[in-house]
Amino acid sequence: MLIQNVDVLVVPEAGECTVETAQDIHLDDTRITAVVPTGNRPGAGEVIDGRGLLAVPGLINSHTHSPMVLMRGAAEDLSIDDWFNRRIWPMEVNLTPERVRAGARLACAEMLLGGVTTFVDHYFHADQIAQAAIESGIRADLAPTYFSSLGAEGIDAAIATTRELATLHPRITAGLGPHATYTVSDDDLRRTADVARADGLRIHLHAAESDDQTQASLDKHQATPIEILDRTGVLDAGALIAHGCGIRAADLPILERHAGRTTVATCPKVYLKLAMGEVTPIKQLQAAKIRVGIGTDGAAVHNTLDVWEAIRLVALTQKHREDDAEWMTLSDTIRLATRGSAAAANQPDTLGALEPGRQADIALLDLSGPHNQPLHDPRAALVYSVRPSDVTTVLVAGQVVVRDRQLTTLDLAETLAEARAIAHTLTDLSRGGAVQHYNP
Ligand SMILES: [Zn+2]
Repeated sequence: MLIQNVDVLVVPEAGECTVETAQDIHLDDTRITAVVPTGNRPGAGEVIDGRGLLAVPGLINSHTHSPMVLMRGAAEDLSIDDWFNRRIWPMEVNLTPERVRAGARLACAEMLLGGVTTFVDHYFHADQIAQAAIESGIRADLAPTYFSSLGAEGIDAAIATTRELATLHPRITAGLGPHATYTVSDDDLRRTADVARADGLRIHLHAAESDDQTQASLDKHQATPIEILDRTGVLDAGALIAHGCGIRAADLPILERHAGRTTVATCPKVYLKLAMGEVTPIKQLQAAKIRVGIGTDGAAVHNTLDVWEAIRLVALTQKHREDDAEWMTLSDTIRLATRGSAAAANQPDTLGALEPGRQADIALLDLSGPHNQPLHDPRAALVYSVRPSDVTTVLVAGQVVVRDRQLTTLDLAETLAEARAIAHTLTDLSRGGAVQHYNP
């Protein structure tokens, strides 16, 4: 396949991102084979006309809970305690494989139409999420969620699901999904780390989500969440840490010792909306050589799975946090969203850049809309003005999954109808109870 005469976003490991105009992207079945000036070599197979479009690496949602799209708008104007204890965990009593599948299908549709080609997920019934991902054509890294309150049997089942998903499909990878340091005991975290090391699996969990959580951990356990991850072997095994807003200066040398196998996902809309205090200390993490990716978290708080929105909020909140308008530049923000998120997805060498040998996960954008024009700097459009609807074409592993802003895989009308029909059964609180209690 050939994407002909397209402008291409180039994201180097360091320094300025650039746009190379009038390029041809050559693909084999799944990978990019060459990016060359247009007309330089003959193509084979289908030709996609890229004139007037910008090709960017497919976006990666580096931390989410995809089926929570069914709870969009159902838990608003609440403190983090009430969000968990009065809405989300009582609603999750109603989770069934069918409801999770319907939510995941809607999530995959929303993400693909917005140019997201990979999502890094953490949720229950992950086998159902895998089926929705396979059906939709998206790439997914899935961590089946568990709490210690599920008991040994529940944890065994989640670990067994991870092992099954790890070999299920070329576009599916899997990790271990303990929920957080405050919902999973040290013993269960130790066991998780042992399994991760023995099976070569990565761990994806929430930790140090806010400074309040870090303080609560110090008060109860005389250790920060990062110190707990260190002493239980989780950092040694390799982890994706969601949020990390409560990471303290004393945690940074600990993280630096595990820098090659630790990544952090930042989801700033959630920190703003739940008034969690600080955002992720990206400048300090990068100084400790920790790679950071960008995610939305679940739509029960983020309301969308729009990674463009998340990218924009990273740039804005980081400038605000550091009180420095020259920090988190266009190039640095784009690098975080591409190479950083590829590292958070545990695929730093195969995703996140349009280079020969990497997977052909590509989004084509039409920047001719009034909100992007005149286009002095396409990089500024990518960070500050594009919308998901500017994405016209999406490829995952060389397969066209969005063409002319339409999904080629899922039936969108049917997907929406199914989600609408089932959503109220998930948000119904009449059964009582909760899957867990938030008390970090
Ligand atoms: Zn989360």
